[in-house]
Amino acid sequence: MKLLYLGTAAAEGIPALFCECESCKSARSLGVKGVHTRSGALLDGVLKLDFGPDSYKQMLDNGLNFAKIHSVLITHSHEDHLDVDELNLRRGTFAHILTTEKLMTVYGNQSVGDKIKRLECEYLHFVSLKTFETVEIEGYSVTPLEGVHCVSREGGSFPVLYEDKTVFRSEDAFIYLIEKQGKRLLYAHDTDKLSKADMDYLRFKRLDLVSLDCTNGVLDVSWIGHMGALDDEEIRRRLIENGSADENTLFVANHFSHNGYPSREALEKLLPNFIVAHDGLEIEF
Ligand SMILES: [Zn+2]
Ligand SMILES: [Zn+2]
Ligand SMILES: [Zn+2]
Repeated sequence: MKLLYLGTAAAEGIPALFCECESCKSARSLGVKGVHTRSGALLDGVLKLDFGPDSYKQMLDNGLNFAKIHSVLITHSHEDHLDVDELNLRRGTFAHILTTEKLMTVYGNQSVGDKIKRLECEYLHFVSLKTFETVEIEGYSVTPLEGVHCVSREGGSFPVLYEDKTVFRSEDAFIYLIEKQGKRLLYAHDTDKLSKADMDYLRFKRLDLVSLDCTNGVLDVSWIGHMGALDDEEIRRRLIENGSADENTLFVANHFSHNGYPSREALEKLLPNFIVAHDGLEIEF
């Protein structure tokens, strides 16, 4: 498999849209090299992972033709992962699609479905997925696992067991296990430390590439929903103990926020066993 990282930042991007902090100033001074657009990836040129607000720039930067993409896996409904206004440009006179297969199928949870169904686009079709139920998409076996994300203080309908306590999520946020011909990818954006059910599901399933949330970067924060560099290294150790990874498994830290990203070098110091993602990074495994 070949995973192309199109966007590697959290909701506000790096540099952030309205920000003058030191990280954003430093990112601006680096020009194109300092830019991390909002999260998204493409697997083998056929399976799109999330569709955020920077999809247009990512299409240009990578010479992509989204008319040829027929399947999109959405992790959750946050706007940095699902920009429905951009997807809606697949309709009518906005898009003259030459392929015979014009339909684009969007896969995700019910909150994603609610947003997609509001659109009037004849070429968008939605399929609802459920955690731990594997489906075949574009020749891949895709299993949504629980993301420890969208955690709501007010409570929510989607409980998840996180570090021995039950927390409640406002939606059934997914992370994805994607398998094909003996290769396995875990695409874990967005999430906090993996839930017990996820670790149980992944036990003795050796992963080839693990892409982990690193929103908090160099910071160690207490709120639940994202990870930082220290959490990523901890999850790597746990996955190895779990029989889900070994020394040859590739680990990537991804989905950064300006708040915890003073520089790429600072993050690399805390992540000796990880590749620190950047826009345009392609990994074959
Ligand atoms: Zn995000
Ligand atoms: Zn900033
Ligand atoms: Zn999110």
